[in-house]
Formats: sequence, C-alpha cells, structure tokens
Amino acid sequence: MTTERHTDALSVSGHDVAQLAWARTRLVQAALPRRMMQEVVAAVERNATWRGQECLNLLAPEAPMSPTVRALLSAEVGQRAAEGHIGPANRWFAGTRHIDEIESLAVELLKRVFRSQYADHRLVASMVGNLAVYTALTSPGDTVMSLPQPVGGHSSNRPDGPAGVRGLKVVDIPVRPDLSVDLDAFAETARRVQPCLVALGASMTLFPLPVAEMAEIVRPWGGRVFFDGAHQMGLIGGGQFQDPLAEGAAVMTGSAGKTFSGPQSGIIVWNDPEIAGPLFQAIFPTLAATHQVNRVAALAAAAAEFLEFGPAYMAQIVENAQALAEALHAQGVPVWGADRGFTRTHQVIVDARPFGGGLKAAQLLEEANIITNKNLLPVDQPSDWDRPSGLRLGTTEVTRYGMRAPEMRRIAGLMADVLQRHQDPAAVRSAAIDLRRTFPTLQFCFPLNG
Ligand SMILES: *Cc1c(COP(=O)(O)O)cnc(C)c1O
Repeated sequence: MTTERHTDALSVSGHDVAQLAWARTRLVQAALPRRMMQEVVAAVERNATWRGQECLNLLAPEAPMSPTVRALLSAEVGQRAAEGHIGPANRWFAGTRHIDEIESLAVELLKRVFRSQYADHRLVASMVGNLAVYTALTSPGDTVMSLPQPVGGHSSNRPDGPAGVRGLKVVDIPVRPDLSVDLDAFAETARRVQPCLVALGASMTLFPLPVAEMAEIVRPWGGRVFFDGAHQMGLIGGGQFQDPLAEGAAVMTGSAGKTFSGPQSGIIVWNDPEIAGPLFQAIFPTLAATHQVNRVAALAAAAAEFLEFGPAYMAQIVENAQALAEALHAQGVPVWGADRGFTRTHQVIVDARPFGGGLKAAQLLEEANIITNKNLLPVDQPSDWDRPSGLRLGTTEVTRYGMRAPEMRRIAGLMADVLQRHQDPAAVRSAAIDLRRTFPTLQFCFPLNG
C-alpha cells in the first residue's frame, strides 16, 4: 500500500510561511485591534469584487448561493446550540423548539429532493459524511475499494483520508484511461479481496458509473456500494445524472455547496432502515455536536429552491459543459473524453500537457480572470499532485448567472487566446471582465426571502 500524502519542504508546517509573514506585517502596521478587524473586512471585500464580479469562475466545486440562502447564513439562529437528534426529548439543551422546526423541514426537504427514505443535515462537510459512512458500515481492518486519485478519486476514500483514519485497507477500483470502470477486472479483484464497501463517485467526473453492476458483484458476501456524490449531488437531485440509490447504492453522501448550490457542507441520504441506526449514531454523538443551525436553515432553503428550479438549472449546467467542451475541442484544445461525447456532468477536463501542464495553464488563466484548477489525469501518478497534466473546468457558476452556449463559445475562445495563441493574459482579462459584467443577475432562484 502506498501512501499518497503530498509532502514537500513548504508543506512541513502546513501553511505558506511567506503568506503568514505578510499577515504579521499588516497586523503590526494596523497596530490597533479595530484596524486589524478592518484588515479582515477589506480582504473579504477585495475577494468579493474580484471573484464575485470580475472573474469567469470555472471552478468545478463552486456554486453561487441564492440571495435567500446567503442571507440565512448570518441568521440569528447561527449562534444557538442544538446538539442531538431532532425532537425535544433528544436535545441536550432547552429552547430548541424552533430549531426542531428548521431541522425537520431540512430533513423532509432533502428527502424530497433526493427521493430517499432518510436524510441527515448535520454534516459540516461532505468529508465528515464520508467518515460517518466508514464509521457506521465498516470496522478497522476491513477492506474497501475506491477510485485512485489520477482517475478522479478523492482523499476522503483513500488511505490519506477518513478511510485511512478508520484503519481500512484500501484497494483500487480498476479504471480505464477513458474513466470507465473495467468491470471484469473489478469482479476478479473484488471476489478475491471481498470489500465490505465499494466507494464510487469522483472529484473528476464526466460519465455515469456502473453502480448496479458493481452492487451485484459485491452482494454475495454482503458488500455494499457507497456513492460519494460530492460533485454530482445537484445533478442527481435534479434528475440529470444517474440515480445511485435507485440503482442499488446503499448510501450516498455529497457536498451541499458543489452543483447542489447550497451552503458548503455535507448531505447524506439512504433508504435501508437496517443501516439507519449505525448511520445516525455515527453522525451523533460520534461526529457532530453543534452543527451550525444557520447553515441548516440555508440548506433547507436551498433544497426548497432546488425543488422548483433544480431540474432546469442542472440540465442547463450539463448543456453548457458540453458546449464548452465542444468549443474548446474545435479551437484545438485537447479535451478528455472526446470519444465518449466529452461529458455528462458539469465538468470539462482539458489535457494541459501542450500548455506546460495544469499548474502553468491555471496560473496563466488566472491572470486573465478565468478561474480553473490543475487536476491529475489518468496518465499521472498520485505523486504528480503538485504538477499534474490536467485542468478541470466546471460550468455551475456561469450557468447560474444566465450564460448559455454562445457564452461557452466565447469563454472557450478566451481560453484558447491565452493557452493556444499565447496572447498576453492581461490583454484577455478585460474581455473576461466584460463578459462577466454582462451577466450580473443570479437565476434559478426566488427573490430574497420570497
Ligand atoms: C469535494 C469532495 C469531497 C469533500 O467534500 P467537502 O464538502 O468539501 O468536505 C468528498 N468526496 C469527493 C469525491 C469530492 O469531490
């Protein structure tokens, strides 16, 4: 078993030491606590102007929240404590009657969106949701199978994340370079190692995965499929991707702040009453205490808006991703999955090797106010983490601001100007700002509080 943790000289202490030195200098210059606070507020405002108004955000894990959802994040209830399960007898604290209302609305709304029998709202991150799944459904020393990072796997299902924390043996799911699972090789390995859990779902995600087939393969020894839908949660809720629970996954987790477009946190849903006890127990008291009720309120509001707008919003996201991929391909930018129709999700994966790799490409594009991220490709090793070959794009944010296929072609043109035609990114930047400013209004949502 190889460990995949990324280490280099800079990450020994974690944070970038030069950046922390910058902050110390600013605090010394500010001198007074009040001016120190103003430093914080000013940095937030600089980000809001640049990232919020002047950039074409193509970061796949990001989504803009609706005005109501954003407003609820600063609600009064965010300073209330509510440990425990919903209901007066279950809480540690008195005074939770309206919190029970908010949280029960959240649970029932999530069950509607995901067409599930059970849902939970207390995960402060999807990463914690994955740890809850491993806590509930595995024991230390068990074997699980998951996707390695170069084919899109996420650390939360690998030895360097919650699966590793739980002391699990992690065996790779065999995946072809086109990101499809090699089912024959999977069946052979699975029968040999008999995983109790198979984690599917990926951070780099272009096509549906064979949930039903894999669930069938592991059924004889009581193995289960766990779908980590962090990225695809919105697409699944909106009926624009496969439906893992209906296809036989025992449990599904996901990020509320990725395509689902709610507050950054986790969602977990399942149908089987037999695993309800262990999952609830893993969430509380094991992994959640105070769980940010303002965030729960925002999550519930996002779910209600999703019932109204989700299907159309998510369909447009996928259409835009396909349009962006096709336009990049037409400009001569190599796009992964060309032989499979490029994408069935919000993501587009660019092979950035002709442009000096993913890090170089992302840095050049950032200079042009086009925000993307470097990404491992199937041709990379996990150790290529800091200098991978790929670039990952996502269309969630540009879609919610109302952009459509013509704007995807425009964005592809700007990207090709920078990457392919070597134009000065600073010169491309003003065109990116213009395009962003042409679409100031968030769509697929109700008016504030309304
Ligand atoms: C983003 C991601 C996570 C972690 O989600 P957070 O909500 O950021 O904690 C887990 N699994 C996969 C596949 C992801 O892409």
